[in-house]
Amino acid sequence: MSGHVEISSFDGLDPRISILRYSNEVDAMFVRTRRFNALIDTLSTPALCREALEKLGASAHDRPLIVVNSHMDWDHFWGNAAIAGVAPIIAHAKALERLSAPEAASTLATKAVEEARFAETELVAPSITFSGDMALNGGDLTLELLHTPGHTPDHVAVWIPEISTLLAVDAVEDPVPCVWDDTPESLRLLRASLARLKALGAKVVVPAHGRTTTPEAIDRNIAYFNELVARVAQIDRRVLRDSAPETLDGLAFEDLLPAHRTMDAGETDFYRDFHRQNLSAAIRTHLETIEIA
Ligand SMILES: [Zn+2]
Repeated sequence: MSGHVEISSFDGLDPRISILRYSNEVDAMFVRTRRFNALIDTLSTPALCREALEKLGASAHDRPLIVVNSHMDWDHFWGNAAIAGVAPIIAHAKALERLSAPEAASTLATKAVEEARFAETELVAPSITFSGDMALNGGDLTLELLHTPGHTPDHVAVWIPEISTLLAVDAVEDPVPCVWDDTPESLRLLRASLARLKALGAKVVVPAHGRTTTPEAIDRNIAYFNELVARVAQIDRRVLRDSAPETLDGLAFEDLLPAHRTMDAGETDFYRDFHRQNLSAAIRTHLETIEIA
């Protein structure tokens, strides 16, 4: 993937928020408050992060900068090296556990071989971590960092109550989010995080992928998981145990895909993998619940 960062916005988005978009890969976000500027995610390389900060112009450098890493998925934080020593980087404490896991370095090693743009990327850890939730008080805007696990254990979404805006990052995804692994606990956490975000009653919801701001994105994600779990529950336990999940009646990606938008072949394959993981977690959840009952 090549190209440049685009500074963008959405209809109805508060003018203090800018979207930093790199192609179809990811959207980072920039929020100007009275006391500080906040960069939510650093894109996938230091070069992209530097480019984004430059393109934001003077208004990005007129007050202290605070950086938030929403979670330790490569497309959201591999740009951290551009920030190191310049601004504090805040993340959930679980982010450090993910960074010290062998997968963090092996993912970078693999992708650096695949794409030259990652060759100079280094993993830079957040400098401030918290457990539970945290608030950044900007004076006019409050950035509430909400621990919203399920997509990943360390995921943080940013709720700005004064403007009823939720920077959901990957806790909400259009068309569907992906559960961390196929354990019942991860599926439970992801659905609980969606319910928590829904209860905020946000008027504007900005995920990092999918280019949407409609709060309906949360409803659609919740409806998808409700339907997935309900359909799995209707299937005989022995059938669930003995069949390849994708061959089960009514449980293919196409059967459960929200019908609101079309996708190209690449996107379809990408989200089909998400669905496969979600389905597998739903099946495990059902089988293990029956066994306990
Ligand atoms: Zn992502």
